[in-house]
Parts: sequence; C-alpha cells; structure tokens
Amino acid sequence: MAVIINDTCINCGACIDECPVEAIVDEDDNPTGEDTYYVHSDKCVECVGHHDEPACATSCPTEGCITWDAIGASPAHRDDITDEQRSNHEPVVE
Ligand code: SF4
Ligand code: SF4
Repeated sequence: MAVIINDTCINCGACIDECPVEAIVDEDDNPTGEDTYYVHSDKCVECVGHHDEPACATSCPTEGCITWDAIGASPAHRDDITDEQRSNHEPVVE
C-alpha cells in the first residue's frame, strides 16, 4: 500500500522535502505524464519508523489531494483495463 497524489495537486512542492525516503517526484519526473507530483509506491513506506503520520499528507495544503490507496479504491478487473491503459503503463485504480 502507498499514498496517491491525485489531480488536485497544485505543484506547491511542500511534500517533496518532507518524505524521508525520497518517494515523491515532481511533475517533470511523473512517470504517468500527469502535470502533478507523484509518489513511487515501491519506495513509499507510509512514514513508518519515521513519523507518526504520513509527512506528505500532513504538509499538503490541498485537502484530499493525498489519499491512501486503500480508501475508495478497489482492484481493477483485468477485463476492464483498456489497451490504451496497458500501453501507457499507468496505475489503474477504480
Ligand atoms: S507517506 Fe511518507 S514515505 Fe510515503 S510518500 Fe508520503 S512522506 Fe514519503
Ligand atoms: S504538497 Fe500537495 S499540492 Fe503540494 S506538491 Fe505535494 S501533493 Fe501537490
């Protein structure tokens, strides 16, 4: 599990320096191509062992921008993933 930055991100940069494991990248390095900051889920440790709460979410001024992927998300069904989504290699969350 990891945290997700959604499209309400205003690219303020407040979160990136708060991450203890450098899991966050800015819009220039966002692998999805979106013009927002991005959390690499394979690096994010949810701040366990570093902070009592996720430091990125605490620092973010945009309410609801950083969410936990377990909230409101369900695993996408293989049959529902389009060819375009596959070729883009974007995370698919329903
Ligand atoms: S929850 Fe912690 S480890 Fe994960 S991206 Fe946010 S600041 Fe980094
Ligand atoms: S703190 Fe929030 S709004 Fe600012 S760059 Fe990070 S995710 Fe985007």
